[in-house]
Amino acid sequence: MNSVSREASTHSSPEAQRRPAYFRLSYFEERRDEIVSTIRELVEIESPSDSKAAVDGIAEAVANKLSQLGGKVRVYPAKEFGNHLQVDLRGKSAAKPVLLLGHYDTVYPLGTLATMPCRVVGDKLTGPGVLDMKSGIALMLHALAALQAWHGELPRPVTVFLVSDEEVGSDSSRAITEALARRASAVLVLEPSYGRQGAVKTARKGVGEYFVKVTGKASHAGLDFEKGVNAIRELARQIEKISGFTELKKGLTVNVGIVSGGSRTNVVPAEASAQVDVRIARMKDAAGIDKKMRSLRPFNRKCKIEISGGINRPPMERTAGVAALYAQAAAIARELGWKLGEAAVGGGSDGNFTAGLGIPTLDGLGGVGAGAHATHEHILISELPWRAALLSGLIERA
Ligand SMILES: [Zn+2]
Repeated sequence: MNSVSREASTHSSPEAQRRPAYFRLSYFEERRDEIVSTIRELVEIESPSDSKAAVDGIAEAVANKLSQLGGKVRVYPAKEFGNHLQVDLRGKSAAKPVLLLGHYDTVYPLGTLATMPCRVVGDKLTGPGVLDMKSGIALMLHALAALQAWHGELPRPVTVFLVSDEEVGSDSSRAITEALARRASAVLVLEPSYGRQGAVKTARKGVGEYFVKVTGKASHAGLDFEKGVNAIRELARQIEKISGFTELKKGLTVNVGIVSGGSRTNVVPAEASAQVDVRIARMKDAAGIDKKMRSLRPFNRKCKIEISGGINRPPMERTAGVAALYAQAAAIARELGWKLGEAAVGGGSDGNFTAGLGIPTLDGLGGVGAGAHATHEHILISELPWRAALLSGLIERA
């Protein structure tokens, strides 16, 4: 549903206007420009995953904002990547905290702002990382501030955890994410929503990565052709086999995405390798595909084949806990006069880790827009108050 029809259903009905939800929406509508300026501030601090100094800079900026809300800041120093940031905020109730999860690294190299500035163009706000996921961080900040303004203090404890390495696999943050999720009642992930309708994500595929290395024997392609063992030919046969592991009905896909090998046309190649992306919809398929990959044997016995890698992120499956959390979100949206959709997507996030532990997780609560990781990345400004109202409601009830 677009915002025009939503406005019609919300603003025109006197019944809707009496609801507390309506008050919340107007509260955030009035602060829409402030939310936009917070997002702009975050987008204008560039923070590619591979630049520790830059990512540490945005970590500090966000830590300052959260400590102004009374949060207790804990910085996890990371050597290779930027620091990770945990902020605990106290609440009125003794309930378990809800974990607000996200990342401040982006896929854009330093200097991208010069060609992709943060700009308002009609209803769009553009810029590197504006959708994935700096608007999500800004929504956290504004939802928390609003809840404090409405209740005096937060209605329940909240932990915010923002990582520096999500776009490169979350290796250095995963253990902390999992530890914090274990002590939370639910995990709300502020990654971008799905599609123009802003659906939340209730299922994500698990992700694996494998490296296949074939070793043959080099020789002169003219003088000693028979003495050579062609690694590229062997790899070609392996690629056909590996690609055949795909089972679309199970949501299991295997993509050979990068190949390399050989040195010159007149040399029988001694080496060739392939990088393979594996996606699984169900955890129960993980062991099977892993075994298939590891059981690859050379067609040509004179070749050697080595397999490394494995399943990195488990799938986020739509468990009963996930479905219940979605039902709460849909109820909050309904009070606002809006039908909130849900989506199952192929991409992974840190929500995969928390859902994999069985902790109720709802993902895609961040901005609405398009073009994540692309030059036309943007969010829709008119959607921000709706997202903030949804998030504030979920923090209370999750
Ligand atoms: Zn992201």
